Amino acid sequence: MAVRDAHEVLNQSPFYVDVDLYASDRPLREAIAANGSTEPASVLSAFGRRWGSAEMMEQGRLANEFPPRLKAFDAKGGRLDVVEFHPAYHRVMAESMESGLHCMTWRNDGTRAPPPSEVARAARYYMVAQIENGHMCPVTMTRAAVGALAVDPALLSALLPKIAAREYDKSFRPWPDKASMTIGMGMTEKQGGTDVRANTTRAVPADGAYLVNGHKWFMSAPMCDAFLVLAQAEGGLSCFFMPRFRPDGSVNGLHFQRLKDKLGNRSNASSEVEFVDAYARLLGPEGAGIRTIIEMVQLTRLDCAVTSAGMMRMALAQALHHARHRSVFQRKLVDQPMMHAVLADLALTVEGAVALAMRLCRAFDQAPRDANEAAYARLMTAVIKYWICKKAPSFIYEAMECLGGNGYVEDSMLPRLYREAPVNAIWEGSGNVMCLDVLRALSREDEAARSILGKLRQQADGLPGANDAADRALKILQSRESEAHARYAVETLAVIAASAALSEHAPSVICEGFAAAQLGPRGSTFGSGLERIAAQVLDRALPA
Ligand SMILES: Cc1cc2nc3c(=O)[nH]c(=O)nc-3n(C[C@H](O)[C@H](O)[C@H](O)COP(=O)(O)OP(=O)(O)OC[C@H]3O[C@@H](n4cnc5c(N)ncnc54)[C@H](O)[C@@H]3O)c2cc1C
Repeated sequence: MAVRDAHEVLNQSPFYVDVDLYASDRPLREAIAANGSTEPASVLSAFGRRWGSAEMMEQGRLANEFPPRLKAFDAKGGRLDVVEFHPAYHRVMAESMESGLHCMTWRNDGTRAPPPSEVARAARYYMVAQIENGHMCPVTMTRAAVGALAVDPALLSALLPKIAAREYDKSFRPWPDKASMTIGMGMTEKQGGTDVRANTTRAVPADGAYLVNGHKWFMSAPMCDAFLVLAQAEGGLSCFFMPRFRPDGSVNGLHFQRLKDKLGNRSNASSEVEFVDAYARLLGPEGAGIRTIIEMVQLTRLDCAVTSAGMMRMALAQALHHARHRSVFQRKLVDQPMMHAVLADLALTVEGAVALAMRLCRAFDQAPRDANEAAYARLMTAVIKYWICKKAPSFIYEAMECLGGNGYVEDSMLPRLYREAPVNAIWEGSGNVMCLDVLRALSREDEAARSILGKLRQQADGLPGANDAADRALKILQSRESEAHARYAVETLAVIAASAALSEHAPSVICEGFAAAQLGPRGSTFGSGLERIAAQVLDRALPA
């Protein structure tokens, strides 16, 4: 006998799956074109369809539903120090590496690939972040490590064929024997993460290399094949290349204590590790550890901004899609004036975020041959990481609320995005540290930085609220009490830079709407006004 359902399912939005993450995202398309992208739409659309497929969304869910587990010991008590991942994690790693997300900004000799490689990568990164963010930690670090490894051309040229290889190799073997390799980073210790000068891990010379003893309190992606690690040497805090295997083929002295039980970022393993006579090779001179590793960190900060913008985009798309299908009081949610305003405010925020992230990528692309762009990258990376990453958690919460109860339930993607979002603001330099970096850059590079600020001001000139806001921010940045008010100044600077970035490609109604919403008088929540332009903003955000 057929089983009868108690009721018919009505008024639920269809699943948001099998979407082309590229073709459906006009702000992304415009932002990358304005910043130098010349790729055929069909190539990026194929990528967008692949990652927007129901299949990849399911891989992303599984990779987080079944988080990695540490196997510290074997059955007889011998050390193993390996991490087991769900096959879905390996799948998303393989997909990302096949697309070259870990290497496509480098030439074979480790110099920067020609423009617009940074923008081309970021376009893809932005889409991948919408589906699974955790695995991007090792992908980001591997790509960024090349920046720091450049101080040792011989080591870099030995590693590059493995870094540039696109075949993901999850096996636990010495890196020279593998098809490809990934690289992580160990800086943070128990007594201090921001203040790495407080590191107590020590490195002593031995047989032409170093032996490292000590610990790291956070070291993500422990199944990477090597790590760039900070440790105190005779000459001061120094950067080391520490592989998982010693040159003689034995397993190196990295003893994983446990994996962190984290709020989000669950597909990614983050370890606590002790180094016991771990073999390592010095990178750059002794005492220059921060200067060496900062070349890596600057690139990971860029990725934080791109991926947070991507996560906001997915939250927006889910919210808008739902609101267009769900009816309340005989009217579609999206047509209820207050919901219309909330969604438009969210959509404008993403417009600003993606325009700003891609503008920053252009600066990285152009930096090797353009001093102004190099100065933009130096000053604005911290500004942009600060604003985009800070915005994401409250943004995603608001998008979640647009879906009502469904948004709060794990069956939707929103809880995962919400848990994931804060990490980008914390790691690679937390919010206050970004603001301190901006103050430091301004004091060190007075002239170049001031010319960037002047140009941004010029570009945003006339946009609602921009001139007054720029004056206020500059006054703070020049004042002696700048630290106490730096957050306001840096946020304002980011919004002005986003308005300037939008002014290069978006219709004036979008630039003006963005500036008015972000710089004008408003409450602390999303959904202020915008009724004049809301329909246009939402049309751009996602085709109905
Ligand atoms: C999931 C996850 C994975 C991680 N993976 C890695 C990894 O792979 N490798 C690695 O090295 N680290 C990793 N980290 C560590 C991360 O980089 C640090 O947590 C971060 O740098 C902050 O350092 P801390 O935790 O020691 O906090 P602290 O340095 O104690 O800072 C605490 C707070 O104080 C603020 N602060 C610091 N100095 C000042 C100041 N002068 N004025 C005002 N405010 C200030 C900071 O902004 C922060 O908000 C990871 C962290 C997380 C959450």
